[in-house]
Parts: sequence; C-alpha cells; structure tokens
Amino acid sequence: MISVQTTYRVLTGSNYGFNVFLYCLLAYPFSNPVLSKALDVARSGNYVIRNCNAGESGSMAEQLQTLLPQIYDNLQGVIADAALGTNSQHGFSALFKKNDSIDFVQGIFKSMAAGKPVPIHTEGRTTNPLLNLGWPTIVCVDPEEQPDIARGCAMEPVPAGNDGQYVMLCPLFWEIEEEAASWECPRVRRNTLTPNDDTLAVNQQAALVHELAHMYGVTPPNKDDESYIIGDAVDLDEENSLQNAANFAYFYAGKKAQTVKKPILGLHEAFSGAVSSASKICYS
Ligand SMILES: [Zn+2]
Repeated sequence: MISVQTTYRVLTGSNYGFNVFLYCLLAYPFSNPVLSKALDVARSGNYVIRNCNAGESGSMAEQLQTLLPQIYDNLQGVIADAALGTNSQHGFSALFKKNDSIDFVQGIFKSMAAGKPVPIHTEGRTTNPLLNLGWPTIVCVDPEEQPDIARGCAMEPVPAGNDGQYVMLCPLFWEIEEEAASWECPRVRRNTLTPNDDTLAVNQQAALVHELAHMYGVTPPNKDDESYIIGDAVDLDEENSLQNAANFAYFYAGKKAQTVKKPILGLHEAFSGAVSSASKICYS
C-alpha cells in the first residue's frame, strides 16, 4: 500500500468537480493480465492497445490512438527542454535538481516517445532479459476479465497502474481531463507551492507519462515510498527524484501547461537558498 494520500479533482462530462483520493496501481502488483479478447488489438507506433474495444467508433482504443500521438509530440518539446537542465524554465531544477540528471531524464522520455521494447515477465525462469523483450502494451481494465486488477482500481480510486510491459487503465482514467491546463500550475502562497496537491498531474496525458516512467524503470526501491503531491516531489533529492514517477509527470505537465507570460516561482523551503531557479514548475 502506498502511504501518501492525495486529493485531486475529477472533471466529469458535466464539469462537476469532486475530490477523490489518488493512489498508483503500482501499489497492487499484478501478474500478467489475462487477455482473452485476441482480436481486440490496436496499435499506435510501437504501443499495443488491448481490450479497449478496437474497431468500434469512439472506443477507448480510438481515443488512445489520438492521445498517444499527442504525447509523442509533446515529448519532443519535453526532451528539448530537459536538455536545458537547470536553465529550463519548466521545473527541471525543482524536479531533478542537477544537470547530472539530464541524460537519465532525457533517456526516460525518449524511451516513452519511441515506445522502446520492455523486459517482460519470465515467470521465475532465469533468462537473459535482453532476449525477453515485449512491446509496451496498454490494457483497458475490464472488471469481468481482470477482476483482481479491477479490485485494485476500486480499492482506492486510481486512474492507472503498471507492471512490466503493461500499463493498465482503470475505469477512472476515462473520467479525468485529457491534458494539464495552465491554471493548474501551482502558485506560491506562504512559502509553499499552492495548491500543494497533484492537480497538475491528474489528467490522462500525465497519468500515462507517470505509468510509462514506471515501465521504463522509474520506481523507488521500496514501492511504498512513492511521492505523489507536488511539494513532496520537489522535496526529493537528486537520486530519489529520478526514482519517482510523479517527478516525470510534473515535468511533462508543467511543460504542457505553459502559456508563457511571467514565471511562477514555487518558493519551497527545502530550496529557499536558490529559490528562483530551484522551484519554477511552469509559466502562466
Ligand atoms: Zn506511480
């Protein structure tokens, strides 16, 4: 179980907001999902989309085939921005601290953009992981077909989870907004980022980036130690920030949400010595 509990806002079709709690389904490790619908397969680049009603008009598969290319596009800007390191104006300093991290951060985002093959579960056999690669696969959770995973989705409302080559999309994924908005960038109030929650990352694009970060190896040694809310993510030191998927989701979302007028400086106590460069998350 993940101990960090965060609130976020879900916008339904009627724009009615209510608070729920967000955990990452990573807290509930699952074995390979049973995928009996052999024909329910779609693709987007290297990504395989399964169990999302492929072929049906307006299906989840079709929505992902729109969403994923938008993410690939946005990632190009994110990768370019990460190259600026601490000169980035979208939170690199706040989220990753040092230019030493540039290569690693870019590598994770490049893997996502390319849909790089992922080591797959080998069912306990000791085999060369390089010979056991699979395509990154996104699965829409069907409570009838994956009851265990669906229970994980419902235990605490979570939009998505990851294990191995699979990103599982819970029913809640389809209730959250598609992308971050500029007004969701945290502002500074009384020496902390406000709101100090995970609003900026609660959208379909950032949720996918979060789970793909896990898929490409961004996970703390102890899964219970994942930090979700933005203040906690910014508080992590360099080493831990590179093991926390939310930092990648915030960097992506901060870049996405930019509208570039004047900088918002996220004054955070941990970095009060280098406030202006340390804590910018995005512009608004
Ligand atoms: Zn996570």
